Amino acid sequence: MDLTVSPSEFPRSLDYPEAPVGSLAAGAARRFGDRTAFAHGDRSLSFTETYRAACRFANALLADGIGHGDVVAIHLPNCLAYPVAYYGTLLAGATFSPANPLLPADDLAFQLADCGAVAVVTFGPFSRTVEAVRDRTRVRRVIVVSPVSEDQLSFEAFHDGQPETRPDVPIDPYRDLAHLSYTGGTTGRSKGVRLPHRNVVVNTLQCAALQTGSLPAVDEDGNPILDQVGDPEEWPTRLGTGVAINLTPWFHAMGTIGGLNIPVLTGISIHLHDRFDPPAYCADAERLRVHTIAGAPALFAALLTCPDFHTRDLSSVQVLSSGAAPLPHEMIKALQKRLPGVPIAEGYGLTEVTMGGVISPPYRSGLRKVGSVGTPLFDTEVKVVAVEGGEEPLPPNTEGEVCLRGPQVMAGYLNRPEETAAALVDGWLHTGDIGVLDDDGYLSIVDRKKDMLLYKGYNVYPRELEELLIAHPAVTAAAVVGRPQADVGELPVAFVVKATDTTAERILADVNEKVLPYKRIRELRFVDEIPVSAAGKILKRELRQQL
Ligand code: AMP
Repeated sequence: MDLTVSPSEFPRSLDYPEAPVGSLAAGAARRFGDRTAFAHGDRSLSFTETYRAACRFANALLADGIGHGDVVAIHLPNCLAYPVAYYGTLLAGATFSPANPLLPADDLAFQLADCGAVAVVTFGPFSRTVEAVRDRTRVRRVIVVSPVSEDQLSFEAFHDGQPETRPDVPIDPYRDLAHLSYTGGTTGRSKGVRLPHRNVVVNTLQCAALQTGSLPAVDEDGNPILDQVGDPEEWPTRLGTGVAINLTPWFHAMGTIGGLNIPVLTGISIHLHDRFDPPAYCADAERLRVHTIAGAPALFAALLTCPDFHTRDLSSVQVLSSGAAPLPHEMIKALQKRLPGVPIAEGYGLTEVTMGGVISPPYRSGLRKVGSVGTPLFDTEVKVVAVEGGEEPLPPNTEGEVCLRGPQVMAGYLNRPEETAAALVDGWLHTGDIGVLDDDGYLSIVDRKKDMLLYKGYNVYPRELEELLIAHPAVTAAAVVGRPQADVGELPVAFVVKATDTTAERILADVNEKVLPYKRIRELRFVDEIPVSAAGKILKRELRQQL
């Protein structure tokens, strides 16, 4: 099959189904049936089992008086109960609000109270935090996967024996919220992002074709299949061949869309690993013959330094998919060397656009430009405006704030009209990221607005310095943050994990000679590791605190 399409031939617009998110699970059960949907250790769920259990869970919620207009918080690590609770919540017409199970008590209390959750699905060891904060929230039902005491309501007891038929609840895909997801966004204060069913279905479809590599952009006759999307419940059984290991937390946008809804839509079997152990990952990737390696750049960085990644048989891999944070050029080169010809899909997005806004076309690496995150997804517009404000698009090749517009852009923040008005102007989401569009419409992300340093009035982008550090042979990982200094503004300070025995002076000399004087790194500290969040973003706040 020739997958060669030029950007101009490629469809720019899709006809999205008017379906709620639960239809993805229903369609998968019909099309992929007994195929393994999720596997965790020696347990697994087929697509049919997942859907049936989700229907039982939905009916249990409804019997408990929880449905349309209610919020169900899912406070779980990735486990087999997760997709059941997720699709079950949505099939009941309720709204899913994901919570990181490692949130400190006060943060969890804030989030549960802010989203108004009436029920929480939690996990044994983490359930105590929920119980401790419950009286500061509206939560009236706590459902526990792997309970730690007999008085807790177990997940199984809650939904066992319920009908397996899909509940008949009206859902308006445009108005009813599927996700209420919390993010620091661009201002740092945790806010609920309102995402209707429509956004979730649209963004799953927008990304699916281009991200999984298993869904070709054109069919056997050369027709763009995404033109004929239709109702996912009615799709023909044509996919359902891929296998992937998932480590991305489902409580983060990249997990919920990239690691859960896209695999369900396209019939990919997901194998869960509890923690990232590079040799175990490589062994399983060989054993399962995975077709995708997906994750944040931190995952690829760790794989590249793992000897097994270079010796295991990874000939089944058809696509590498990265997102959540910048993938350094040096790593792209190293990955291309290890897996020649395997396209690298890099996605750029944020919780406020459900997940994805821009993606590098992976199905044909020739369309990729190294250093760029690619071109907008279907029905998505990108513009770059002045960082100081304004809506006028800047000319190509000019740095400014990236703005996105499309059907996946959030309906606004929950109960934060001022922050919503600042972020959403005439449908355009101001992302808080600084980027550049080139003459061909390819976007490059320069840095986050809030990570930019000002040195004597000059803009210094830590990411440029991080790229140079990572390209240095003695460095495996690096992050740059600013240290305030009254007379100049901020000085760039680097945190570095070294690969070989070397000195800070050596690395500083090598890197600083490549940059303009005002950008020079002033101090370099060696550390054992760079702190990253569960979703794979460098925790710059923690590094700033160390200074
Ligand atoms: P979140 O809402 O947690 O998904 O975080 C979104 C932020 O992650 C964006 O505003 C970007 O700063 C960053 N980000 C996501 N994907 C990329 C990427 N491919 N390259 C650079 N930054 C990214």
